Amino acid sequence: MDKLIYFDYAATTPVRREAADALLDALGRFGNPSSRYEYARQAAQRVKEDREAIAGAFGCAPAELYFTSCGTESDNWALRRGAELNRRRGKHIVTTAIEHAAVLETCKDLERQGYEVTYLKPDRAGRVAAGQLAAALRPDTALVSMMLVNNETGAVLPVADCVKAVKAYDPAILFHCDGVQGFLKTPEPLGKLGADLVAVSGHKIGAPKGIGALYVKKGVRLRPLLTGGGQEDGLRSGTEATAQIAAFAAAARACAADPGRLERTAAIKEYTLSQLREAVPKLEVISAGDAPHICAVTLPGYKSEVVVRVLGDRGVCVSSGSACHRGRPSHVFAAMGLPKPWLDGALRLSFSPDSTREEADALASALKDAAGSLFTTLS
Ligand code: PLP
Repeated sequence: MDKLIYFDYAATTPVRREAADALLDALGRFGNPSSRYEYARQAAQRVKEDREAIAGAFGCAPAELYFTSCGTESDNWALRRGAELNRRRGKHIVTTAIEHAAVLETCKDLERQGYEVTYLKPDRAGRVAAGQLAAALRPDTALVSMMLVNNETGAVLPVADCVKAVKAYDPAILFHCDGVQGFLKTPEPLGKLGADLVAVSGHKIGAPKGIGALYVKKGVRLRPLLTGGGQEDGLRSGTEATAQIAAFAAAARACAADPGRLERTAAIKEYTLSQLREAVPKLEVISAGDAPHICAVTLPGYKSEVVVRVLGDRGVCVSSGSACHRGRPSHVFAAMGLPKPWLDGALRLSFSPDSTREEADALASALKDAAGSLFTTLS
């Protein structure tokens, strides 16, 4: 395999040079921030500065940002402890049918514990409207959880409007947003959404895997999910992952210092879609994606797992849906009501600001060859 042609940045991103440098530097300065001597105090100071950098990119106060191990942990913490915090209101939760497994599987677990969950259905474009959410609220609604950017279609959900609708109904209802695919991928900082809780993850923005954060709005008295040594102001125990935190902050700083990145990402996505349409006339666009870095296409009647494998053999990496689905048909595309041949052939393409036209051309040519060599279930 000569060169990797990577169009799966929504699954994970390569570690940025700045992040790798920061990681190595922090690994070399290994003090435990909780220890009481000067060497450790320096580690604590670096975590403080890193928290400030990420909070700056997020648009919140540093004290509102708690480090976790990943987006999944942040979502679990928000949903489980958020629901518990509002238990006196009732046991009703509202979310969407197109959330990531980190939210959906946690909701299923909460259902097993006696919660009732309403799953809002998306329209054919994969969007959910604020009016739909408002209509689902009830006097016993404890929590709402809605993602900002869908990881399979790139659709941006109207989270800020939904927060307003929920708070107008009752300010006591907690609003959690899975912002994992939205952090530094949308023009507005996530802190402006107005949500009470927001989950983010480092490996989607050029930091290594294994670091995430949860924004907890000042005044929200969320209990910890992990108990222990009382790190993170008592809210998330576990010795701080100083090297991953340093890398997360370096990646956030580097993104923030490149204001043209969203336009470049959107432009390369548009170019890729136009090349694909030309090279593979059978290709249909499921969603061009509101967010700059994700779109979904389909080769109706083809098996997307097979297409992904054939492309992969040529060093071209795309996804047949969320990487977390492991071959199962996407619940997102199914919820959008796509016909079966579209579902079967669905592919997710995702981009970085550094994706190139040469890579897009290579993808188009590889997909043309794959479509020419594989059988479809359609006559
Ligand atoms: N939420 C969304 C929308 C995601 O796309 C992902 C990862 O793909 C997650 C949550 C989970 O994040 P992590 O991989 O950091 O656990």
